[in-house]
Amino acid sequence: MDPSAEPLALYIHWPFCLAKCPYCDFNSHVRERIDQGRFAAALRTELAWEAARLGRRPLASIFFGGGTPSLMEPATVGALIEDAARLFAPVPGMEITLEANPTSVEAGRFAGYRAAGVNRVSLGVQSLHDEDLRRLGRQHSSAQAMAALDLAARIFPRFSFDLIYARPGQTLAAWRAELRQALARAADHLSLYQLTIEPGTVYEGMHRRGELALPDEELAAELYDTTGEEAARFGLAAYEVSNYARPGSESRHNLAYWRYGDYAGIGPGAHGRLSIAERLVATRRHRAPEPWAERVERDGHGSTAEENVTAPDRAREMLLMGLRLAEGIDAARFATRTGIALDRAIDVEVREQAIEAGYLAGDPDRLRATAEGRKRLDALLAALVV
Ligand code: SF4
Repeated sequence: MDPSAEPLALYIHWPFCLAKCPYCDFNSHVRERIDQGRFAAALRTELAWEAARLGRRPLASIFFGGGTPSLMEPATVGALIEDAARLFAPVPGMEITLEANPTSVEAGRFAGYRAAGVNRVSLGVQSLHDEDLRRLGRQHSSAQAMAALDLAARIFPRFSFDLIYARPGQTLAAWRAELRQALARAADHLSLYQLTIEPGTVYEGMHRRGELALPDEELAAELYDTTGEEAARFGLAAYEVSNYARPGSESRHNLAYWRYGDYAGIGPGAHGRLSIAERLVATRRHRAPEPWAERVERDGHGSTAEENVTAPDRAREMLLMGLRLAEGIDAARFATRTGIALDRAIDVEVREQAIEAGYLAGDPDRLRATAEGRKRLDALLAALVV
């Protein structure tokens, strides 16, 4: 199949937040005042620029991420959805997700987003405990999160929410209880992330100074196993390392990344992988919001240097992404997408050992990590990828 005929996933980045969470390394910025009109216009301009070179390709999903996209005016979201639907060819039932934080002000915009065409919302709940929310630097309370979840369930056909576990001082019993409480509110999808310490964050400094008591490796593994068990009891399967869904309710947009499909990234710091004239092009936008907007106003786009992704890099990227998925990587698609046979991209001896050890499944036409393998994915990939 011609990769440029595959449905496209479109990511739109809103780079602003009310405050910077101490664990977060996303491209997010705090401003006293946001010029909504200016950033809306710049996003629309850059979207039109990207679409002009891609042509009217089928569009499978739009994802408004951030930052905090629930700080966008619903009219901005609506205008971008309309533009995308005109510039591309939406597939029937196109998934349109917006990430939202559950403060009451943001929840107040839900009806507006739904009217604008958003059909799936992903809520950054993170914890159901007020003290932990405060420590995570979140701007909402547990009661607000509950209210936002109830509202999302009434307004949107699909919704998901995120929780962070393996938090400082968290016990297995406390996480199990919190997760059960969350699952009682869940619909068909949940993202459950283990807290990681990212370079350049406030948490990194605290961790270095010994001010964050994180769970040791053994407890972290138990927390991960418990997460999977509890989600499964509720009918949500781990389809990716940190994502759980009822079959058929997976995030189609995120599946496009993990399956190494084409995606366009619009807005400050957004990345893309696009099949253009027999090449796979890695796109990247200027990270800082105001300089990005200036470039868009001047040039029609805020793109920094673009690079062709070489065949070995395509193979590495697809392995890194695809082994996160419970379904793994289809060997035929791997060869089409990367130009390299799967057997030539991995150490086949290591594969045999990993199958023996129970970290990889023994499927003939697919490379698939087992649940045990996904638990130690970094080490598995380091050994497997040539
Ligand atoms: S709200 Fe989200 S994107 Fe913004 S700082 Fe917090 S974690 Fe990062």
